[in-house]
Amino acid sequence: MKIEADRSLCDGNALCVAEAPDLLELDENEMVVVIGQPADEAALERARRAAAVCPKAALRVRS
Ligand code: SF4
Repeated sequence: MKIEADRSLCDGNALCVAEAPDLLELDENEMVVVIGQPADEAALERARRAAAVCPKAALRVRS
């Protein structure tokens, strides 16, 4: 499973970062960056929550 970000949709509100700070952060332009991939079930759940809270639908978790 992999988390992917469409940075063109991101508005930098950091809701996803709060859910998965080990996987996502904001860059200097306040746009999301994927910094890690889920390595276990707990991290995968964080990735799913991060995608779910994004109001811009900018994140996808893919198999
Ligand atoms: S929740 Fe969505 S819009 Fe907000 S920072 Fe994350 S990817 Fe960007």
